[in-house]
Amino acid sequence: MKGICRLCQQEKDLIRRSHIWPDFMYKGMYDDKGRLYVINSSEPAKHRTVQSGSYEQHIFCSDCDNVRIGQLERYASNNLYRKPYLEENAAFKQISVPGGIQVIHCEDLNYNQFKLFLLSLLWRASISTEAVFENFKLGEDEEEFLRASIYEKAVVDEMAFPCVLLTSGGAALDENFIAVDAFKTGLVKFYINAFVYTFYLAENKKDETTRQLAIGMDQKMGIMKVSIAQWNLIRNSIIEATIAASNR
Ligand SMILES: [Zn+2]
Repeated sequence: MKGICRLCQQEKDLIRRSHIWPDFMYKGMYDDKGRLYVINSSEPAKHRTVQSGSYEQHIFCSDCDNVRIGQLERYASNNLYRKPYLEENAAFKQISVPGGIQVIHCEDLNYNQFKLFLLSLLWRASISTEAVFENFKLGEDEEEFLRASIYEKAVVDEMAFPCVLLTSGGAALDENFIAVDAFKTGLVKFYINAFVYTFYLAENKKDETTRQLAIGMDQKMGIMKVSIAQWNLIRNSIIEATIAASNR
């Protein structure tokens, strides 16, 4: 099918199905029938089952899907998700900070690749028509900034849509789900598998902690690592936030 590709904005043959987010992020989240569990505001009290994961039809040409976005995904997969990031090694340092929290110091992530990977998650969530992303939409100018940055492989400012990652350090996979908390002003949280991605949208939400943890041009990034008990509290909070939003 011919159409206008959402990333390069050229008229091209569009591929039939694009992953909205890369498959490796959903690892272990499908049940034995290949279904994925999500939570959204239309049925907040229970997990909603979605067939075949998060696909979007006819949005990208194959160059954009496989090459432009694919390259960012491969970088992130090879340099974080498939690495032993919960262990102490040359690439990842496990540091205890005051307050009983641990931080995983990622020592050598390519700034441009990983920053654009994160921005591509944010942008794709915004342009997606999938139910799980229905409560999240950026402004037109913000979407265009992200689209152009990803397409042009721009060097984006560190504090443009900074993202802080949080991980459980190993929650049971069968409890995992994907959810979006877009109910707080000025930030959005994406819960997927063993990670929470918090993107700071408003200037007044970005603070020194954001600056320290979000990936920097020095190629370093900090991931907050919480206990299973804390992780369960965080997961319950998204369910409550979703229920509260649906009762408004
Ligand atoms: Zn394209």
